[in-house]
Amino acid sequence: VILAIMALSQSGYSQKKAATEAEINQKVEALLQKMTLEEKIGQLNQYTGDWEVTGPVTNSGNKVEDVRQGKIGSMLNVRGVKHTRALQEAAMQSRLKIPLLFGQDVIHGYRVTFPIPLAEAASWDLDIIEKSARIAATEASASGIHWTFAPMVDVARDPRWGRVMEGAGEDTYLGCLIAKARVKGFQGKGLGNLDAVMACAKHFAAYGAAIGGRDYNSVDMGLRTLWEVYLPPFKAAVDAGAATFMNSFNDINGIPATGNSYIQRDILKGKWGFKGFVVSDWGSIGEMIQHGYVKDNYEAAEAAIKAGSDMDMESRSYINNLSKLVKEGKVKEDLINDAVKRILYKKFELGLFDNPYRFSDEKRERQTLNKPEFLDAARDVARKSIVLLKNENQLLPLSKELKSVALIGPLVKSEKDMQGFWSIDWGKEDHLISLFEGMKNQAGKTRLLYAKGCEISDTSRAGFTEALKAASEAEVVVMAMGEKYDMSGEAKSRANIHLPGVQEELIRAIQATGKPVVVLLMAGRPLVFNWTADHVPAIVYTWWLGSQAGNAIADVLYGNYNPSGKLPMTFPRSEGQIPIYYNYFNTGRPAQNDQDTHYRSGYIDMQKSPRFAFGYGLSYTTFEYGDLKLSADKMTGNEKISVSFTLRNTGKTAGEEVAQLYLRDMVAQPVRPVKELKAFQKVLLKPGESKTITFTIDKEKLSFYNDNLEWITQPGEFKIMIGGSSDGTKLEQSFSLVD
Ligand code: BGC
Repeated sequence: VILAIMALSQSGYSQKKAATEAEINQKVEALLQKMTLEEKIGQLNQYTGDWEVTGPVTNSGNKVEDVRQGKIGSMLNVRGVKHTRALQEAAMQSRLKIPLLFGQDVIHGYRVTFPIPLAEAASWDLDIIEKSARIAATEASASGIHWTFAPMVDVARDPRWGRVMEGAGEDTYLGCLIAKARVKGFQGKGLGNLDAVMACAKHFAAYGAAIGGRDYNSVDMGLRTLWEVYLPPFKAAVDAGAATFMNSFNDINGIPATGNSYIQRDILKGKWGFKGFVVSDWGSIGEMIQHGYVKDNYEAAEAAIKAGSDMDMESRSYINNLSKLVKEGKVKEDLINDAVKRILYKKFELGLFDNPYRFSDEKRERQTLNKPEFLDAARDVARKSIVLLKNENQLLPLSKELKSVALIGPLVKSEKDMQGFWSIDWGKEDHLISLFEGMKNQAGKTRLLYAKGCEISDTSRAGFTEALKAASEAEVVVMAMGEKYDMSGEAKSRANIHLPGVQEELIRAIQATGKPVVVLLMAGRPLVFNWTADHVPAIVYTWWLGSQAGNAIADVLYGNYNPSGKLPMTFPRSEGQIPIYYNYFNTGRPAQNDQDTHYRSGYIDMQKSPRFAFGYGLSYTTFEYGDLKLSADKMTGNEKISVSFTLRNTGKTAGEEVAQLYLRDMVAQPVRPVKELKAFQKVLLKPGESKTITFTIDKEKLSFYNDNLEWITQPGEFKIMIGGSSDGTKLEQSFSLVD
């Protein structure tokens, strides 16, 4: 029995009873009493480790020595137990032995890379999204990391913005659920557990609404939109217990988020009662100088601490100025105490004072990283993230009887690009599966031909001849096209989101051979690919799927997995349509149809509709929606209506459908969007099988903000729309809300 208990506690999943809030607060207070002002400010200071532990660093002297002197509370980019332990040992030599916090951008996997978050959002599968975060946390924590700078919960309606890859797409409701799932996944059963890492909801706030999709740009936004569209996923993260927040680079209506008291103090720490701490974004405190908001770092530190930014990532404004600000009476020490207490609280909650190393050792690290079951999970998440956009004449799935398939394109053999932006580079690894390898694993007797055809963004057509030859020798062609891993991500905004280089030209050339063509699009954002969409019979959007990309794609191409993903963002026909999203307000001149441009809201040179709508995605089977029933056609605010319908698999293959419920408040002041996602369910059905699905409509789902930012409902007619895509709803019925 004793051995079993020892084994359990070694495994790290059992912890002594978690301390209560009051107990931790007592410890925090006691420690605070012992701290000098300088030691307190040290806790608010975060430096990057540049992946190295020792050695002089240009502008901060020797960081290890700074740690010993209690001048650093947290470090980021220190990877691996060997390095985190060495630095923690230095922290244990500081006067008060306050442990360091190690943070890291664990955005979509740590050692095993999962699909980019936007791809995972396309799965609409909250369980696997949570699982993916859980595995990332398990690996990262075994490597000595306490804190991930994720999830990014910024709503993003502009695909030019490179960071759309990092979030859950354009919808607030889906974004809230995914925010919760990811926070739960990272933090597991609670911070006291050794396989948990602190989550960090970022970037607070409205970073996704940068004007023109240009990263870091200003945000100019009415408060109602802020509250209704952009803030809810952050609130969801608070409700799910997110330990930390990160603020953002942008200004909101002229006030940089980092110096924004309304956002950080009034909303986050005030109205929402957030108890954790806020870290600045990289250098964002100092960047308030370039914004023109403050004159120098002294003023920047003052503005940031007053606005509730607790920890300074890399700008050095706090460490160099806060002490002076307190001594000169500009900043009350109480403000600093509050920030320090928030940070120390988390260090206690993580158990760092009892065990600064959290049992992370090289053995546990070795045993934990890259486990086969983690790779299996990554493959499963990856195939569930794939969206089938087009499949004429049931070209897919591919038959195993094919004699030959030509794999053509610059991404066929790529591993790095499959990993995507914000993945951690571990060098060459066995478990990175390119499309080529994945296909080889499943092709059986089919001969695979290969030609690169062109580079991703180069303009040379020299490889076309070889590609055409491969196509001519094959029965079917599969083309792997898209973006290089660093074309979507931070600071990777693109004005032109077409397929880069001569890729579309290559697709045209191959399509002209008359061979059946399947185009795979691998990218970190919605791309514009009109010619391909119009002419190529089968199109599969694979995003960047991570370590197991090749296996997951082959699963879908060969029909070992029936695709079930649905787009979490609207795909435009042209950059000129952006911003374009499904839940817009009608104008007084709505177009009657897509060709109707006569004095209508739209363009005279392009349809108004997007190329592919939010929520869209095909399957190898077909689904039928029917028998819509509402439990009542009137409801009062205290009642609920249940909405039920049957979903039937009318094809020959088992498959999953994401049944989506949209709602429209027909008449309201202020006006409401033409539709809003309010519920969905992912359902697996065997061929011929049908299921009754029930959703509940309550007052909350009918509520919205009025101009005074009050959360209200207004009586009147509501329309329910149900289907497998925002633009393809099949069932409709109305009910009314009565006083
Ligand atoms: C990004 C953050 C990230 C931080 C640390 C910043 O540039 O905006 O999202 O967490 O760097 O790497």
